[in-house]
Parts: sequence; C-alpha cells; structure tokens
Amino acid sequence: MGQQSHTALDRRTMLALLGTGSAALAGCTGGDDQTPTGTTSGGVPDEYRTATGLDGQRRDPSALSTQSAVNYQSEPQEGQQCSGCTYYIPDKNGDGLGACTIVEGTIEPRGYCTSYVAREGGGGDGESQSSLEVPDDAQCAVCEMMAANFPEWNAQAVHADDTRAFFCSSGCATTYYAVTEQFAETDADITGLWVRDLNSRDLIDGTDAYYALETDTDRFDDPMRVNPAPFASREDAVSYVAETDSLTGDDIVKLTAFDRTLAEQYRSQLIE
Ligand code: SF4
Repeated sequence: MGQQSHTALDRRTMLALLGTGSAALAGCTGGDDQTPTGTTSGGVPDEYRTATGLDGQRRDPSALSTQSAVNYQSEPQEGQQCSGCTYYIPDKNGDGLGACTIVEGTIEPRGYCTSYVAREGGGGDGESQSSLEVPDDAQCAVCEMMAANFPEWNAQAVHADDTRAFFCSSGCATTYYAVTEQFAETDADITGLWVRDLNSRDLIDGTDAYYALETDTDRFDDPMRVNPAPFASREDAVSYVAETDSLTGDDIVKLTAFDRTLAEQYRSQLIE
C-alpha cells in the first residue's frame, strides 16, 4: 500500500481513537454538547452536529449513544456497514468520514454497530448524487493537494453510498476512476463524476465528457503538470486536438477508456 493509503489509514485510526475517547468521557448520552464550540463538536466537525441522516432524521447532539454502548467497530459485519444504514450521515468535507444521527463521533462508511438499520432502497438520493461546491478543506483523494485551491481544474466523484471524493484535477479524477480500489474509502460503485470543461471551466458530467489525452506538461499551468483535457462536446475536443502537433482524433476518449495503463500516463508516481 502506498503513502497516500497509509496516511488515510492513520487518519482513520486516529479519529476512531478520538471517538472512543470522547464516548468514554461523555458517558451514555449527550457527549456532543459538553464540548466547547469550535471547529469540532464532540468529535464531529460542526457541519455534522445537527445534520440529516440518510433517512431524513436530524441528529440531536443531546441524545446520542456512545460508540462503546452500541459496540461500534470500524469494519463491516456480514455485509452490513454504516453507509447502508438509515442513520448514516455521509461525508460532508471530503475526509472520507461521516457521522451518525444516533451515535457520537465520526463514523466510517465501512463501520458498523448493533443499532444498524438497513436503509430502504439503498443508494443515494437525487440531491446527494449531484456535484457539490468543493469544501475548503477537501484534499484530493489521489494526490492529497487541496482541491479548492484549483477552482478551474478541480473535479469530484460520488459513490452509490454517497461517499464523496474531491480531486485537484481531471488527471487525479480519472486515476481514481481507473484505480478506485487503491484510493476510495468505500467499495460502493462510483455513480457520478464531474470534471471541468477546459473551455468554460464549468463542472460537467465526467461520465459523458470527451477527454483529449494531452501529455504536454508545458501546455498549461495545471495541477500535477499533466492532465487529460475534458470537454462537454466532442466537437470541442476535436477542435482542441486539431490545434496541437501531437494529438489526433484517436486521442479523444470517454471516461470508460481510463484503465490502470492509461491512468499511469498521468499519475504513475501515485499508483501502486
Ligand atoms: S451502523 Fe450504527 S454507527 Fe453506523 S450509521 Fe448505523 S446506527 Fe450509526
């Protein structure tokens, strides 16, 4: 496993330990409100404090079970995991962790506890499966740069369980798509991916975009120096390659063309 994965694991482990400590200090219920207001509240970032879970229930910080009381664990159990639970609050800040409407602390999408209730229908709802504004503190899921620092280049993806990933650029987004098992925090399928059109710089549907396989590292001042050039229309992609000396129409592909080999053309240094 590479450096990026170790970093993610260390963060998860640290947060899990913090959550356990918080639960022990807080007792059975109500631990969240006993922590001074700040960037976090009782082990969860403030945006989760009264957030809504997958079932529409709002989190009440004064009526939460401790993680130890519900035997919370960071691994699934018999195929059941938090991302499929009706009480789960999906990741809101790009760190790969969520929260729960009835249990204290940060919660891993692959976690589990004895209060698990399967979410009816599964999958994400319409709003949670749309593109979002990139949070200021969201790290690129592939290279770990801050995605919000690259507003003309950043990208994002969402999985069926609403796990969200942000990227600095199209090169990292397509690498994530091609080598998902290395970089994703969930086993759920990718159900949405958005990249920025090279002309408009608007977020476009990356699953339906046309990618010109640019390899000139000096062509743009872009994150990671080289990225496939996304376009909403094939016509724009054709115009782009016509302006280059090195690309032809054969170098225009759709997202499904990105496999490990093609991803290595852009992010070989990050792929195990
Ligand atoms: S399994 Fe437990 S901790 Fe996970 S979301 Fe459901 S109730 Fe919360």
